[in-house]
Amino acid sequence: MKIHQAEFIISAVRPDQYPEDALPEIALAGRSNVGKSSLINRMINRKNLARTSSQPGKTQQLNYYMINEQLYFVDFPGYGYAKVSKTERQKWGAMIETYLTSREPLKLILLVIDVRHPPTKDDQLMYDWLIYYNIPCCVVATKADKIPRSKWDKHLKVVQQTLNKRPEDPIVLFSSETGMGRDALWETILSFCHD
Ligand code: GDP
Repeated sequence: MKIHQAEFIISAVRPDQYPEDALPEIALAGRSNVGKSSLINRMINRKNLARTSSQPGKTQQLNYYMINEQLYFVDFPGYGYAKVSKTERQKWGAMIETYLTSREPLKLILLVIDVRHPPTKDDQLMYDWLIYYNIPCCVVATKADKIPRSKWDKHLKVVQQTLNKRPEDPIVLFSSETGMGRDALWETILSFCHD
């Protein structure tokens, strides 16, 4: 996809700050440091629009990026960071749950996982939540450049089995380093926006 516009809009801490123009929203969930910012930057062909390297303190913000005046990427705060307090974790849970259950423009969640390792307990919990609320999910297995091509299939299988992935949820092998999977992921995203 050709990107003619990409812009950071807001770090929203409250629902009344979410945009009101009803453009489709594609949300990104994943553990801290998994590579969400790099993925956003690669998808929009910008080096640094999404801040790389997570900010573990910022557990309360949804970062909105407008793309081609057509849709939003909504970057969830990364999870699984050990030093976050229980209170912060609960606030994170409440914010995400509210978003997942009441955000009408939400079309698809990208669950970003590291293809090198089986999904973590937190990844599994996140995915189970999406199943519970019946939200479409595309699993994005990133950092593919870090394992040899000969191991891709095996690793993808482990990811799908560990998550107990629903057959209707797509899975895309991705690399922010090489751009692998970018076209496939755009195709998936746009198909969910037009549904
Ligand atoms: P975030 O915390 O999920 O936003 O993660 P970042 O995008 O900041 O990435 C964390 C680290 O992983 C950074 O050092 C990135 O350069 C690196 N990284 C992210 N994606 C990839 C990838 O696809 N391939 C490689 N080799 N490194 C990656």
